[in-house]
Amino acid sequence: MTSLTKTRWVYAFGGGAADGDASMKNLLGGKGANLAEMSSLGLPVPPGFTITTECCTHYYANEQRYPDDMKAQVEQGLARVEELTGKRFGDAVNPLLVSVRSGARASMPGMMDTVLNLGLNDQTVEGLAKLSGDRRFAFDSYRRFIQMYSNVVLDLDHHMFEEILDEHKERLDVTVDTALTAEDWEKVVADYKKAVAAELGSDFPQDPQAQLWGAVGAVFASWMNDRAKFYRRMHDIPESWGTAVNIQSMVFGNMGETSATGVAFTRNPSTGEARLYGEFLINAQGEDVVAGIRTPQALTRIAREEMGDKQPSMEEALPEVFEQFKAAVDRLESHYRDMQDIEFTVEQGRLYMLQTRNGKRTAKAALKIAVDLAAQGVITQEEAIMRVEPASLDQLLHPTIDPASERDVIAQGLPASPGAATGKIVFDADEAERLAAIHESVILVRDETSPEDIHGMHAAKAILTARGGMTSHAAVVARGMGRPCVSGAGEVQIHAKAGEFRVRGRTFKAGEIITVDGSTGEVLAGAVKMIEPELTGDFATLMVWADALRRLKVRANAETPLDARTARQFGAEGIGLCRTEHMFFEEDRISAVREMILASDEKGRRTALAKILPMQRADFVELFTIMEGLPVTIRLLDPPLHEFLPHTEEDLKALAQSAGLELAVLERRVKELHETNPMLGHRGCRLGVSYPEIYEMQVRAIFEAACEIAESGKTPPCPEIMHPLVAKGEEMKFLRQLTDRVAKQVLAERKLDFPYLVGTMVELPRAAIRAADLAENAEFFSFGTNDLTQTTFGISRDDSGRFLAAYMDKGIFEKDPFVSLDQEGVGDLIRIAAERGRAQRPEIKLGICGEHGGDPASIDFCERVGLDYVSCSPYRVPIARLAAAQSAIGEREKDR
Ligand code: ADP
Ligand code: MG
Ligand code: MG
Repeated sequence: MTSLTKTRWVYAFGGGAADGDASMKNLLGGKGANLAEMSSLGLPVPPGFTITTECCTHYYANEQRYPDDMKAQVEQGLARVEELTGKRFGDAVNPLLVSVRSGARASMPGMMDTVLNLGLNDQTVEGLAKLSGDRRFAFDSYRRFIQMYSNVVLDLDHHMFEEILDEHKERLDVTVDTALTAEDWEKVVADYKKAVAAELGSDFPQDPQAQLWGAVGAVFASWMNDRAKFYRRMHDIPESWGTAVNIQSMVFGNMGETSATGVAFTRNPSTGEARLYGEFLINAQGEDVVAGIRTPQALTRIAREEMGDKQPSMEEALPEVFEQFKAAVDRLESHYRDMQDIEFTVEQGRLYMLQTRNGKRTAKAALKIAVDLAAQGVITQEEAIMRVEPASLDQLLHPTIDPASERDVIAQGLPASPGAATGKIVFDADEAERLAAIHESVILVRDETSPEDIHGMHAAKAILTARGGMTSHAAVVARGMGRPCVSGAGEVQIHAKAGEFRVRGRTFKAGEIITVDGSTGEVLAGAVKMIEPELTGDFATLMVWADALRRLKVRANAETPLDARTARQFGAEGIGLCRTEHMFFEEDRISAVREMILASDEKGRRTALAKILPMQRADFVELFTIMEGLPVTIRLLDPPLHEFLPHTEEDLKALAQSAGLELAVLERRVKELHETNPMLGHRGCRLGVSYPEIYEMQVRAIFEAACEIAESGKTPPCPEIMHPLVAKGEEMKFLRQLTDRVAKQVLAERKLDFPYLVGTMVELPRAAIRAADLAENAEFFSFGTNDLTQTTFGISRDDSGRFLAAYMDKGIFEKDPFVSLDQEGVGDLIRIAAERGRAQRPEIKLGICGEHGGDPASIDFCERVGLDYVSCSPYRVPIARLAAAQSAIGEREKDR
């Protein structure tokens, strides 16, 4: 009776049956659950049992003590294995040996390494020698066990053992392990034991029970080691999950020429090609394949021929087992309906399956496998869509370094913006622009970047900064532009004056070639071979499927013709944010812009604005032409005016001269424009309120451009005029009237009529809360979540790098709120604004245009709140299309 209510800590597998199955990953860990599943499928799995993750949780909740009844259950589990194998644990004549393997829910490289051959001691090794008739094999296994156990459980350095082995090899004058005889291994074992005793002050544990519990304890302890903790934090794995322990009877791949061990993927994990892929080693134990002691052999004959390998493939060396293996592998893939990553061992011609799991794969392979499986009817199109991680597509959307090429790494920074590019070192934005104009490829190298460097960043093929984090100016702007960027490469010492940087004892001069790999954060010397991105083949197919299923529209943040073209090529359905200030920074315009800023009265400003008008108009004509009637949201001037003025003494002098002003007058004006806190200063629509003529000029430029398109017989665009940083209904009303007045004027002048929208960017908490007031005059809201995050938290994005890390370390922030939307706080404001805006104006159009518009988790939030579209950088458009489809599928699933 009592036994029924007891917690079950141990689940058996093997011998054609199992207590658990693949659905029990949470309790048994991935490895344990799949060992159980394979056993039930009737595949040859060496019998064993799994101690549950709950036991690990219990252990940590109770001062690192095992549950009372757990030991008895382990003994029962061991007894079952003894029965199935006909061997006994610790028996001198017929010893059972086991492996002890950790296995959490998610596979975790931070966890304890596996211990093989556990149960060997001075007596059982003799039993194993007699039983196998192979004394050499027995002592080879014993020395492996001592080394592994000492390293993994007793925490002794493995070098100690390698040195001892090297001494023996030197003494015997041999180079390979296989040349050692039984007697040689016996001597190695004796020396190993001596070394352990000297280090520990006690003998290597001879009692198999003590060995077993030592290993179990080490697996649980490894759950809390630094490596595992770090890995959990990186991958959002909660500490409460715990790890399982798998204890499994040993099978031996090191019992001669008909024994082997290997790993296999049912498809190629880097290309997705539907062909068995993997390697194996004859006469070896598990760890030998990865350790690189010998060069592994191919599994299939075809693969061997393609590699031009002389050693036989498994198909050729062990044809019968290979056939059996191939059948098992096919069975596993169709059973799990996904590509499998498999570990196996052959003991004297008999096959054993030791592990299977859904294999990790590159984005390219993920696409191919998902599309292939759907085409075969193994999975549905919806499942195919759910199989590909949207963020991983980033790997395919930028030129990347050919993995086959050699890398001369000179520095390591943060992988701030993916893709790779090669070019000449340039330390100055103007110089970058100048060289780009004569078709040179340049890499802009700076301590950090600022808005003044935008033109140089645009001109550069990639950006490298010594300072700044993942959300520094350089990182954010580079991601927006799709430029590869490595930020925060602190070891790079830039001496811009001397025209060089120093790193790791090497010096690189301006003009020298380097390559920046924004996907890995590496900086390489010289040029490296690249692979270009394309949205074709399986990628294109999956996108078509995704488009058919998503509800959210996807637009791009784009202002240059290049960005707009890229956006369309990647499937953008309009522009969600066209920032007009970038157009002001361009070299031929900045002087007119400065003239406008420096004007002492409205008349002077209007004169300067009249010079800017045709240039702005030309920009919009080009943009509208590219967008062919798709909606384009144009944000009117946003940054504080002083951002357009020069900062250095030298530049000020030059400006004074060209503007015909006295330097003192200019300096006074610059001082006047200075603000203590520009982010909260004279910017956004506040510029339009205090200098309406600026916004009037911009609205006129937009409508004249639209008219030009219409007059030329092309589909006129639907301009969406967006006013930034609005907080009050009255502000919106003023701006709406200004916009309508100019729009009507232009349309009347040209005798044309077409629809347009006037709206606002919601980026202040007050705007969100008073959304109903704004909606009286705003026909759309676009959530500017970069500023909305800054203003909601009261944290400046550019300064957050200094303390955000501490917040993440202490678990106060789980994710950087500038990368992934703070769904609770900022998200609540969006929800409130959407509700109140819709209550006031049911047909109001709602979108998001912050960095978050390209973040899958944030896109999912947008789907749930029912926004109409997301807008992101052109290079993230395919990611957003896929993420939007996944969210739509997820929402539909909930309704079912
Ligand atoms: P990891 O999680 O690092 O892959 P595993 O627990 O899978 O660690 O063990 C690594 C390797 O050790 C396996 O691939 C297999 O080759 C070998 N191994 C583990 N258990 C056994 C066993 N019972 N018999 C034979 N080899 C084993
Ligand atoms: Mg494994
Ligand atoms: Mg803003």
